[in-house]
Amino acid sequence: MLFLKLIVKLISSQKIICKFTTHINLTNKEILIMKLSKKLFSLIFIGSISISCIAQNPITVGEVTAKPGEKISGYIIVPAGRDSDIVKVPITVINGIKAGPTLALVAGVHGYEYPPVLAMTKLSQQLDPVSISGKVIIVHVANVPSFLKRTVYYNPYDWKNFNRVFPGKIDGTNSERIAFQITKEVIDQCDYLIDNHCGDGNEDLMQYLYYTEIGNPEVDNRSKQLAINFNLKVIVHETNRTKDVINSLYVSNTALLRGKPAISIEAGKLGGTAEEDINAIMKGSYNILKHLKMIAGEPKLDFQSVWVQEFKIITSEHEAGLYYPIVSRGDHVQKGELVGYLTDYFGNNLQEVKSPFDGIVLYIIATPPMSYGEPMVMIGRF
Ligand SMILES: [Zn+2]
Repeated sequence: MLFLKLIVKLISSQKIICKFTTHINLTNKEILIMKLSKKLFSLIFIGSISISCIAQNPITVGEVTAKPGEKISGYIIVPAGRDSDIVKVPITVINGIKAGPTLALVAGVHGYEYPPVLAMTKLSQQLDPVSISGKVIIVHVANVPSFLKRTVYYNPYDWKNFNRVFPGKIDGTNSERIAFQITKEVIDQCDYLIDNHCGDGNEDLMQYLYYTEIGNPEVDNRSKQLAINFNLKVIVHETNRTKDVINSLYVSNTALLRGKPAISIEAGKLGGTAEEDINAIMKGSYNILKHLKMIAGEPKLDFQSVWVQEFKIITSEHEAGLYYPIVSRGDHVQKGELVGYLTDYFGNNLQEVKSPFDGIVLYIIATPPMSYGEPMVMIGRF
Protein backbone atom coordinates (compact mmCIF):
# COMPACT_ATOMS: atom_id res chain seq x y z
CA MET A 1 0.00 0.00 0.00
CA LEU A 2 2.83 2.35 0.91
CA PHE A 3 4.41 1.58 -2.48
CA LEU A 4 1.19 2.36 -4.35
CA LYS A 5 0.67 5.53 -2.29
CA LEU A 6 4.17 6.65 -3.20
CA ILE A 7 3.58 5.95 -6.90
CA VAL A 8 0.48 8.17 -6.73
CA LYS A 9 2.53 10.82 -4.94
CA LEU A 10 5.34 10.40 -7.47
CA ILE A 11 2.96 10.93 -10.40
CA SER A 12 1.20 13.84 -8.71
CA SER A 13 4.54 15.40 -7.69
CA GLN A 14 5.76 15.11 -11.31
CA LYS A 15 2.62 16.95 -12.41
CA ILE A 16 3.12 19.53 -9.69
CA ILE A 17 6.75 20.04 -10.78
CA CYS A 18 5.55 20.47 -14.36
CA LYS A 19 3.25 23.17 -13.19
CA PHE A 20 6.12 24.81 -11.21
CA THR A 21 4.17 24.36 -7.96
CA THR A 22 6.11 23.80 -4.75
CA HIS A 23 3.35 22.47 -2.49
CA ILE A 24 4.90 19.01 -1.94
CA ASN A 25 4.76 17.54 1.51
CA LEU A 26 6.79 14.30 1.69
CA THR A 27 8.82 12.78 4.56
CA ASN A 28 12.53 11.98 4.04
CA LYS A 29 11.71 8.24 4.05
CA GLU A 30 9.07 8.75 1.38
CA ILE A 31 11.49 10.80 -0.73
CA LEU A 32 14.14 8.05 -0.46
CA ILE A 33 11.67 5.29 -1.52
CA MET A 34 10.42 7.55 -4.29
CA LYS A 35 13.96 8.03 -5.65
CA LEU A 36 14.59 4.27 -5.51
CA SER A 37 11.29 3.67 -7.34
CA LYS A 38 12.29 6.12 -10.07
CA LYS A 39 15.62 4.30 -10.50
CA LEU A 40 13.78 0.98 -10.66
CA PHE A 41 11.41 2.31 -13.35
CA SER A 42 14.38 3.64 -15.32
CA LEU A 43 16.15 0.30 -15.17
CA ILE A 44 13.04 -1.56 -16.33
CA PHE A 45 12.54 0.96 -19.16
CA ILE A 46 16.16 0.87 -20.36
CA GLY A 47 16.21 -2.90 -19.92
CA SER A 48 13.16 -3.36 -22.13
CA ILE A 49 14.74 -1.23 -24.88
CA SER A 50 18.00 -3.19 -24.58
CA ILE A 51 16.15 -6.51 -24.89
CA SER A 52 14.35 -5.35 -28.05
CA CYS A 53 17.68 -4.15 -29.52
CA ILE A 54 19.46 -7.38 -28.65
CA ALA A 55 16.72 -9.19 -30.57
CA GLN A 56 18.21 -7.65 -33.75
CA ASN A 57 21.88 -7.80 -34.69
CA PRO A 58 23.77 -5.37 -36.91
CA ILE A 59 23.97 -6.49 -40.53
CA THR A 60 26.78 -5.84 -42.99
CA VAL A 61 26.08 -5.92 -46.73
CA GLY A 62 29.03 -4.90 -48.88
CA GLU A 63 30.38 -1.66 -47.43
CA VAL A 64 27.21 -0.96 -45.44
CA THR A 65 26.71 -1.86 -41.79
CA ALA A 66 23.30 -1.04 -40.30
CA LYS A 67 22.66 -1.37 -36.57
CA PRO A 68 19.14 -1.99 -35.24
CA GLY A 69 17.06 1.11 -35.94
CA GLU A 70 19.29 2.32 -38.79
CA LYS A 71 18.72 2.80 -42.51
CA ILE A 72 22.01 3.12 -44.40
CA SER A 73 22.72 3.43 -48.12
CA GLY A 74 26.02 2.60 -49.79
CA TYR A 75 27.56 0.11 -52.17
CA ILE A 76 28.65 -3.45 -52.71
CA ILE A 77 32.05 -3.09 -54.36
CA VAL A 78 32.67 -5.62 -57.12
CA PRO A 79 36.45 -5.93 -57.62
CA ALA A 80 38.03 -5.11 -60.97
CA GLY A 81 38.78 -7.97 -63.34
CA ARG A 82 40.30 -8.60 -66.73
CA ASP A 83 37.44 -6.88 -68.55
CA SER A 84 36.55 -3.90 -66.34
CA ASP A 85 37.34 -1.66 -63.41
CA ILE A 86 35.44 -1.96 -60.10
CA VAL A 87 31.64 -1.78 -60.17
CA LYS A 88 29.70 -0.10 -57.35
CA VAL A 89 26.29 -1.72 -56.82
CA PRO A 90 24.00 0.70 -54.92
CA ILE A 91 22.13 -0.74 -51.94
CA THR A 92 20.06 0.41 -48.96
CA VAL A 93 19.98 -1.66 -45.79
CA ILE A 94 17.14 -1.11 -43.32
CA ASN A 95 17.61 -2.79 -39.96
CA GLY A 96 14.42 -2.78 -37.91
CA ILE A 97 14.20 -2.24 -34.17
CA LYS A 98 12.41 -5.55 -33.70
CA ALA A 99 13.41 -9.06 -34.74
CA GLY A 100 12.05 -10.62 -37.92
CA PRO A 101 13.10 -12.10 -41.26
CA THR A 102 15.47 -10.57 -43.82
CA LEU A 103 13.81 -9.64 -47.10
CA ALA A 104 15.88 -8.87 -50.22
CA LEU A 105 14.30 -6.64 -52.87
CA VAL A 106 16.32 -6.61 -56.08
CA ALA A 107 15.96 -4.32 -59.11
CA GLY A 108 17.98 -3.58 -62.23
CA VAL A 109 19.11 -7.11 -63.01
CA HIS A 110 18.32 -5.95 -66.53
CA GLY A 111 19.53 -2.38 -66.87
CA TYR A 112 16.86 -1.12 -69.28
CA GLU A 113 14.01 -2.09 -66.93
CA TYR A 114 13.16 1.11 -65.10
CA PRO A 115 9.93 0.81 -63.03
CA PRO A 116 11.60 -1.63 -60.57
CA VAL A 117 14.56 0.75 -60.14
CA LEU A 118 12.27 3.74 -59.54
CA ALA A 119 10.07 1.75 -57.16
CA MET A 120 13.10 0.71 -55.08
CA THR A 121 14.26 4.32 -54.75
CA LYS A 122 10.82 5.35 -53.48
CA LEU A 123 10.56 2.38 -51.17
CA SER A 124 14.00 2.99 -49.66
CA GLN A 125 12.96 6.55 -48.84
CA GLN A 126 9.63 5.52 -47.32
CA LEU A 127 10.60 2.54 -45.16
CA ASP A 128 11.28 3.43 -41.54
CA PRO A 129 13.46 1.07 -39.44
CA VAL A 130 11.49 2.03 -36.33
CA SER A 131 8.36 0.38 -37.71
CA ILE A 132 10.07 -2.65 -39.26
CA SER A 133 10.51 -6.10 -37.71
CA GLY A 134 13.52 -7.69 -39.37
CA LYS A 135 15.79 -6.40 -42.10
CA VAL A 136 15.30 -5.22 -45.67
CA ILE A 137 18.13 -5.27 -48.21
CA ILE A 138 17.31 -3.20 -51.30
CA VAL A 139 19.50 -3.61 -54.37
CA HIS A 140 18.68 -0.49 -56.38
CA VAL A 141 20.47 -1.47 -59.61
CA ALA A 142 22.11 -4.89 -59.76
CA ASN A 143 23.45 -4.64 -63.31
CA VAL A 144 25.05 -1.20 -63.10
CA PRO A 145 27.06 -1.38 -66.39
CA SER A 146 23.92 -2.25 -68.38
CA PHE A 147 21.94 0.53 -66.64
CA LEU A 148 24.55 3.20 -67.29
CA LYS A 149 25.17 2.14 -70.90
CA ARG A 150 21.43 1.57 -71.58
CA THR A 151 21.76 -1.95 -72.95
CA VAL A 152 18.85 -4.38 -73.42
CA TYR A 153 19.33 -7.93 -71.98
CA TYR A 154 23.14 -7.84 -72.03
CA ASN A 155 25.99 -6.46 -69.96
CA PRO A 156 28.16 -4.20 -72.19
CA TYR A 157 31.46 -5.62 -70.89
CA ASP A 158 30.93 -9.31 -71.60
CA TRP A 159 27.62 -9.39 -73.53
CA LYS A 160 26.14 -11.93 -71.14
CA ASN A 161 22.55 -11.92 -69.91
CA PHE A 162 22.97 -11.08 -66.22
CA ASN A 163 19.98 -13.26 -65.28
CA ARG A 164 21.72 -16.34 -66.72
CA VAL A 165 25.11 -16.16 -64.93
CA PHE A 166 24.20 -16.87 -61.28
CA PRO A 167 25.55 -17.72 -58.77
CA GLY A 168 28.50 -16.06 -60.51
CA LYS A 169 32.27 -16.47 -60.22
CA ILE A 170 34.71 -14.54 -58.04
CA ASP A 171 37.23 -14.30 -60.92
CA GLY A 172 34.83 -14.41 -63.86
CA THR A 173 33.74 -11.81 -66.38
CA ASN A 174 32.07 -8.57 -65.29
CA SER A 175 28.55 -10.10 -65.10
CA GLU A 176 29.84 -13.15 -63.25
CA ARG A 177 31.78 -11.08 -60.71
CA ILE A 178 28.75 -8.89 -59.94
CA ALA A 179 26.58 -12.00 -59.64
CA PHE A 180 29.09 -13.57 -57.26
CA GLN A 181 28.99 -10.55 -54.92
CA ILE A 182 25.18 -10.33 -55.02
CA THR A 183 24.90 -14.04 -54.23
CA LYS A 184 27.33 -13.72 -51.30
CA GLU A 185 26.19 -10.40 -49.86
CA VAL A 186 22.45 -10.42 -50.60
CA ILE A 187 21.08 -13.87 -51.47
CA ASP A 188 23.07 -15.74 -48.82
CA GLN A 189 22.05 -13.22 -46.13
CA CYS A 190 18.32 -13.06 -46.87
CA ASP A 191 15.41 -15.30 -45.89
CA TYR A 192 13.10 -14.21 -48.75
CA LEU A 193 13.81 -12.59 -52.11
CA ILE A 194 11.79 -10.64 -54.66
CA ASP A 195 13.52 -10.05 -58.03
CA ASN A 196 11.83 -7.13 -59.76
CA HIS A 197 11.83 -7.02 -63.56
CA CYS A 198 9.68 -5.64 -66.34
CA GLY A 199 9.53 -5.77 -70.11
CA ASP A 200 13.01 -4.85 -71.34
CA GLY A 201 13.52 -1.91 -73.72
CA ASN A 202 12.19 -4.02 -76.61
CA GLU A 203 9.38 -5.91 -74.83
CA ASP A 204 5.68 -5.02 -74.83
CA LEU A 205 4.73 -6.81 -71.63
CA MET A 206 1.67 -7.15 -69.39
CA GLN A 207 2.06 -7.26 -65.60
CA TYR A 208 2.61 -10.77 -64.26
CA LEU A 209 4.92 -12.66 -61.92
CA TYR A 210 6.75 -15.98 -61.91
CA TYR A 211 6.17 -18.57 -59.21
CA THR A 212 8.88 -21.19 -59.69
CA GLU A 213 8.28 -24.61 -58.15
CA ILE A 214 11.55 -26.38 -57.29
CA GLY A 215 10.31 -29.54 -55.57
CA ASN A 216 11.03 -28.47 -51.96
CA PRO A 217 7.51 -28.46 -50.45
CA GLU A 218 8.24 -25.91 -47.70
CA VAL A 219 10.06 -23.47 -50.00
CA ASP A 220 7.45 -23.96 -52.73
CA ASN A 221 4.58 -23.32 -50.35
CA ARG A 222 6.15 -20.12 -48.99
CA SER A 223 7.01 -18.90 -52.50
CA LYS A 224 3.41 -19.55 -53.51
CA GLN A 225 2.23 -17.38 -50.62
CA LEU A 226 4.61 -14.61 -51.76
CA ALA A 227 3.16 -14.93 -55.28
CA ILE A 228 -0.44 -14.70 -54.07
CA ASN A 229 0.23 -11.81 -51.70
CA PHE A 230 2.21 -9.70 -54.19
CA ASN A 231 -1.13 -9.60 -56.01
CA LEU A 232 -0.56 -9.09 -59.71
CA LYS A 233 -3.38 -10.24 -62.00
CA VAL A 234 -1.43 -13.10 -63.60
CA ILE A 235 0.86 -15.68 -61.97
CA VAL A 236 2.99 -17.83 -64.28
CA HIS A 237 3.60 -21.24 -62.71
CA GLU A 238 7.07 -22.46 -63.71
CA THR A 239 8.26 -26.00 -63.05
CA ASN A 240 11.15 -26.58 -65.42
CA ARG A 241 13.95 -24.30 -64.27
CA THR A 242 17.28 -25.93 -63.52
CA LYS A 243 17.74 -27.56 -60.09
CA ASP A 244 21.55 -27.29 -60.35
CA VAL A 245 22.70 -25.15 -57.42
CA ILE A 246 26.17 -24.72 -59.00
CA ASN A 247 24.63 -23.33 -62.18
CA SER A 248 21.37 -21.84 -60.95
CA LEU A 249 21.40 -19.14 -63.71
CA TYR A 250 18.61 -16.86 -62.44
CA VAL A 251 18.58 -14.59 -59.37
CA SER A 252 15.35 -16.02 -57.96
CA ASN A 253 16.38 -19.59 -58.81
CA THR A 254 19.63 -19.07 -56.89
CA ALA A 255 17.65 -18.04 -53.81
CA LEU A 256 15.16 -20.91 -54.21
CA LEU A 257 17.86 -23.59 -54.57
CA ARG A 258 19.48 -22.24 -51.39
CA GLY A 259 16.21 -22.71 -49.48
CA LYS A 260 14.98 -19.11 -49.66
CA PRO A 261 11.43 -18.56 -50.95
CA ALA A 262 11.50 -16.19 -53.93
CA ILE A 263 9.44 -14.84 -56.84
CA SER A 264 10.17 -12.73 -59.94
CA ILE A 265 8.03 -9.75 -60.81
CA GLU A 266 7.33 -8.34 -64.28
CA ALA A 267 5.72 -4.87 -64.33
CA GLY A 268 6.55 -2.33 -67.04
CA LYS A 269 7.45 -2.30 -70.72
CA LEU A 270 9.50 -0.84 -73.54
CA GLY A 271 11.87 1.27 -71.46
CA GLY A 272 8.94 3.22 -69.96
CA THR A 273 8.45 4.61 -66.47
CA ALA A 274 4.65 4.41 -66.12
CA GLU A 275 3.25 5.21 -62.68
CA GLU A 276 0.91 2.20 -62.83
CA ASP A 277 3.93 -0.12 -63.06
CA ILE A 278 5.91 1.63 -60.32
CA ASN A 279 2.81 1.60 -58.11
CA ALA A 280 2.17 -2.12 -58.74
CA ILE A 281 5.71 -2.91 -57.55
CA MET A 282 5.39 -0.60 -54.53
CA LYS A 283 2.04 -2.04 -53.54
CA GLY A 284 3.25 -5.61 -53.99
CA SER A 285 6.35 -4.92 -51.89
CA TYR A 286 4.24 -3.49 -49.05
CA ASN A 287 1.93 -6.50 -49.29
CA ILE A 288 4.94 -8.81 -48.91
CA LEU A 289 6.23 -6.82 -45.90
CA LYS A 290 2.79 -7.19 -44.30
CA HIS A 291 2.49 -10.86 -45.25
CA LEU A 292 5.86 -11.54 -43.55
CA LYS A 293 4.73 -9.51 -40.48
CA MET A 294 7.63 -7.10 -41.03
CA ILE A 295 5.30 -4.09 -40.91
CA ALA A 296 1.85 -3.69 -39.33
CA GLY A 297 -1.31 -4.48 -41.27
CA GLU A 298 -2.70 -7.14 -43.57
CA PRO A 299 -1.88 -7.47 -47.31
CA LYS A 300 -4.46 -5.73 -49.50
CA LEU A 301 -5.56 -8.12 -52.22
CA ASP A 302 -7.52 -6.30 -54.92
CA PHE A 303 -8.31 -9.32 -57.06
CA GLN A 304 -7.83 -13.05 -57.33
CA SER A 305 -4.83 -13.76 -59.54
CA VAL A 306 -5.21 -15.99 -62.60
CA TRP A 307 -2.69 -18.84 -62.88
CA VAL A 308 -0.90 -19.57 -66.15
CA GLN A 309 -0.11 -23.31 -66.02
CA GLU A 310 1.55 -23.60 -69.43
CA PHE A 311 3.49 -21.15 -71.54
CA LYS A 312 5.69 -21.05 -74.60
CA ILE A 313 8.41 -18.62 -75.62
CA ILE A 314 8.99 -18.67 -79.40
CA THR A 315 12.52 -17.71 -80.43
CA SER A 316 14.12 -16.58 -83.67
CA GLU A 317 15.59 -19.27 -85.93
CA HIS A 318 17.55 -16.81 -88.05
CA GLU A 319 20.85 -15.05 -87.62
CA ALA A 320 19.47 -11.58 -88.30
CA GLY A 321 16.21 -9.94 -89.22
CA LEU A 322 13.46 -7.39 -88.70
CA TYR A 323 10.59 -8.44 -86.44
CA TYR A 324 7.00 -7.27 -86.96
CA PRO A 325 4.56 -7.90 -84.09
CA ILE A 326 0.87 -8.23 -85.03
CA VAL A 327 -0.70 -8.53 -81.58
CA SER A 328 -0.05 -6.67 -78.30
CA ARG A 329 0.53 -7.55 -74.64
CA GLY A 330 -2.58 -8.94 -72.97
CA ASP A 331 -4.28 -9.91 -76.25
CA HIS A 332 -6.16 -13.21 -76.31
CA VAL A 333 -5.04 -15.30 -79.29
CA GLN A 334 -6.25 -18.52 -80.91
CA LYS A 335 -4.23 -21.63 -81.71
CA GLY A 336 -2.50 -21.13 -85.08
CA GLU A 337 -3.12 -17.37 -85.14
CA LEU A 338 -0.32 -15.31 -86.72
CA VAL A 339 1.08 -13.10 -83.91
CA GLY A 340 4.20 -11.76 -85.65
CA TYR A 341 6.69 -12.39 -88.44
CA LEU A 342 10.35 -11.98 -89.25
CA THR A 343 11.87 -10.72 -92.49
CA ASP A 344 15.39 -10.22 -93.73
CA TYR A 345 16.78 -6.69 -94.21
CA PHE A 346 15.19 -6.61 -97.68
CA GLY A 347 11.63 -7.49 -96.63
CA ASN A 348 11.67 -11.16 -97.61
CA ASN A 349 9.71 -13.34 -95.18
CA LEU A 350 11.92 -15.54 -92.96
CA GLN A 351 9.69 -16.87 -90.18
CA GLU A 352 6.00 -16.69 -89.33
CA VAL A 353 5.17 -16.75 -85.63
CA LYS A 354 1.92 -18.51 -84.76
CA SER A 355 0.31 -19.13 -81.39
CA PRO A 356 0.82 -22.75 -80.23
CA PHE A 357 -2.51 -22.74 -78.35
CA ASP A 358 -5.46 -20.58 -77.33
CA GLY A 359 -3.91 -18.21 -74.80
CA ILE A 360 -2.84 -14.73 -73.76
CA VAL A 361 0.15 -12.68 -74.94
CA LEU A 362 2.32 -12.18 -71.86
CA TYR A 363 4.88 -10.24 -73.87
CA ILE A 364 5.82 -9.64 -77.48
CA ILE A 365 8.89 -7.97 -78.96
CA ALA A 366 7.82 -4.58 -80.29
CA THR A 367 11.02 -3.22 -81.88
CA PRO A 368 12.61 -4.44 -85.16
CA PRO A 369 16.06 -5.89 -84.29
CA MET A 370 16.09 -9.68 -83.97
CA SER A 371 18.99 -12.13 -83.79
CA TYR A 372 19.26 -15.90 -83.47
CA GLY A 373 17.77 -17.49 -80.35
CA GLU A 374 16.18 -14.30 -79.01
CA PRO A 375 12.56 -14.42 -77.83
CA MET A 376 9.89 -13.06 -80.17
CA VAL A 377 6.76 -13.71 -78.10
CA MET A 378 5.61 -15.41 -74.89
CA ILE A 379 2.13 -16.87 -74.82
CA GLY A 380 0.50 -18.37 -71.74
CA ARG A 381 -2.47 -20.68 -71.25
CA PHE A 382 -4.69 -20.66 -68.13
ZN1 LIG B 1 14.38 -8.53 -66.82
